[in-house]
Amino acid sequence: MSTLKTRYQEVLQQIAQAAAAANRNPNDITLVAVTKTWPVETILEAYAAGMRHFGENRAEELEEKRPFIEAQLGPDSGIVWHFIGTLQSRKTNPIADHADVFHALDRLKIANRLSNRLVENGRAQINPLPTFLEINISGEMSKSGVNCVDWENSATQRAEIRNFGKTVAALPGLTLQGLMTMAPWDAEPEFIRTVFKRTRLLADWLAEEVGVERPLALSIGMTDDYPLAIAEGATHVRVGRAIFGERHTH
Ligand SMILES: *Cc1c(COP(=O)(O)O)cnc(C)c1O
Repeated sequence: MSTLKTRYQEVLQQIAQAAAAANRNPNDITLVAVTKTWPVETILEAYAAGMRHFGENRAEELEEKRPFIEAQLGPDSGIVWHFIGTLQSRKTNPIADHADVFHALDRLKIANRLSNRLVENGRAQINPLPTFLEINISGEMSKSGVNCVDWENSATQRAEIRNFGKTVAALPGLTLQGLMTMAPWDAEPEFIRTVFKRTRLLADWLAEEVGVERPLALSIGMTDDYPLAIAEGATHVRVGRAIFGERHTH
């Protein structure tokens, strides 16, 4: 068996174990295989190994890889393309045209531009783009994401995320799918777990405030912390290195 397939099966096993330990159904957890920086040949190999959800974080890469893969595998491959990176406003069109799920919405301007394009390209009417709001809850790692560092105590922060959630839910091109966050690197597991737990509690609160019918999904967990994320309710884990190995940077 190829290294890639072996690693993939190890990740699936870890997911199953973490789900069992948390009394959860592993089928409720979507493994997004993060293929950023990897060539299309690697994606085809991953597909052959059974992966169907792929994550990219640069608009140029998604825009290039998706049509290539579809030309190889046909339109009914069952692949779901997740865009997981922060988006700049001048890159919204390729994402509205090529992403099936968007994990990192952090600004209203981006939301409006995406929604307008989705109305324009006809997707809004058929299948609005499932979208996760990216939140910054640890305050440590990155500046991206809506500031929710002190949401439990700050009425201002709660108002900001509430308004953002309501606005996104009302846009014709987008569906409010859930929340996404990144845990800080190099933190203690207990701290990371707290970050994920606070994200889950925020998602529960926000679902009520916005009045969405389904519980909000949670895109939390990467190579170093996805079992912890599953323990805290992750519905989507975004895993790159554990499957594909270390990335070669551009
Ligand atoms: C690269 C990336 C991942 C995957 O990281 P790994 O450590 O390789 O698992 C997940 N989420 C986002 C937003 C990323 O940019």
